Amino acid sequence: MTSTELATNISGPMQFCGLSRTPGPNPDVAVGANLTGKIAIAVVPTKGDAAPNLTAEQRFGISFQTYRQLGKVATALSEKGAAAVVFVQVRDATGLTDCLSTLLPSTQQPRISLPMPVARQRASSPARAAPAIVLSPQASKVVLEALHLTEQELDEHLDDGTGVAARTDVPATLDLAVTIRTDAKACNVVAVLRGSDPKLAHQAVIYTAHVDHIGARMDGAAYNGANDNASGVAGLIGVARMFAAGPRPRRSIVFLVTAGEELGLWGSQFFVDNPAWPIENIVANINFEMIGRTGRCTATEFVATPSYRHSRFSSLGHDAAQIAAGLGITLLPGDEYYRQSDHFPFAERGIPALSIGDGNFVDYHLVTDDAGAIDGRRVHAAMRAAAELGRRVAMDEEAPSTRQAQAGW
Ligand SMILES: [Zn+2]
Repeated sequence: MTSTELATNISGPMQFCGLSRTPGPNPDVAVGANLTGKIAIAVVPTKGDAAPNLTAEQRFGISFQTYRQLGKVATALSEKGAAAVVFVQVRDATGLTDCLSTLLPSTQQPRISLPMPVARQRASSPARAAPAIVLSPQASKVVLEALHLTEQELDEHLDDGTGVAARTDVPATLDLAVTIRTDAKACNVVAVLRGSDPKLAHQAVIYTAHVDHIGARMDGAAYNGANDNASGVAGLIGVARMFAAGPRPRRSIVFLVTAGEELGLWGSQFFVDNPAWPIENIVANINFEMIGRTGRCTATEFVATPSYRHSRFSSLGHDAAQIAAGLGITLLPGDEYYRQSDHFPFAERGIPALSIGDGNFVDYHLVTDDAGAIDGRRVHAAMRAAAELGRRVAMDEEAPSTRQAQAGW
């Protein structure tokens, strides 16, 4: 892998952008705002449910969701012209500073300089354009004081979006070392089983499961991700074998194994943006996201999203619940995961989609998510339900359709 080291010196007035919310009467950043030449100061969204007693490693595991959010905010602010994005936080509820301090190499710490001295911080650059950096609570305090923002004002702002009057004339200089990796590559894998009906074979049901995970811990221990998501990929391969062994369905079946899911659904988003099968002819998406461990679910349960409570609920979800019941499985609404796996880019395109999974389990994003703890019968049950669901969709005269939220499956 080649990489470019850039020493970047960025100067400009700081512009407080809060959570970077744009809708509503009191936006943090107006839709058409021009931040050219400014150093955008954004707030790390505080999650009330972050347990304070987690270890640094556990925090690292759950921090991926926060990084995705920060990446989106940094990209949005960068698109408005910001020269750099600096994230501040009153308290480190999600443990970002812990994670970075504990798990990243300690060389090349970038420095942020303001009219007063600020602690050295490590940088993270989720955006492709403007560099972005997350400050520790101590360093954030200095920035917030310079902007004349109190902790209380910021808390209120986070709670209800109350506008805050931050100074806009405070200059800052960022002295950053940025590493740009230009040739990192990851691949999706796509396989197709052609349908048998000349009238319907141009349409396809697409199965998805992500094959990437979160790499290795600093001490070298591998995050094997047996449940997240080798179990899902095993389920997808099992479904493919069942289809290949049985009679050909009328519609075609596409099997998509994605990369980059943990970094923000990169593989599935890429597929939807650059479809290997015409996107308008994809009639349904069935996604596996961890299907081998109990925890949130008992042995006879799986979570599914979009559920009957969700506005993207579809006949696919209805059929899934019915098929699952026939196999002795109960589907639980899991809409807190709606944006968190590879069905999401499909669902957002209006394609009826359903993600089936375990929800949280005790070894989530830990090195202990290993093969020995996987319940093969559980993987098999999810695979059977999903195969039957896909076969029904592939055989039906009518393609699945989206419904409004309902009272039940
Ligand atoms: Zn996953």
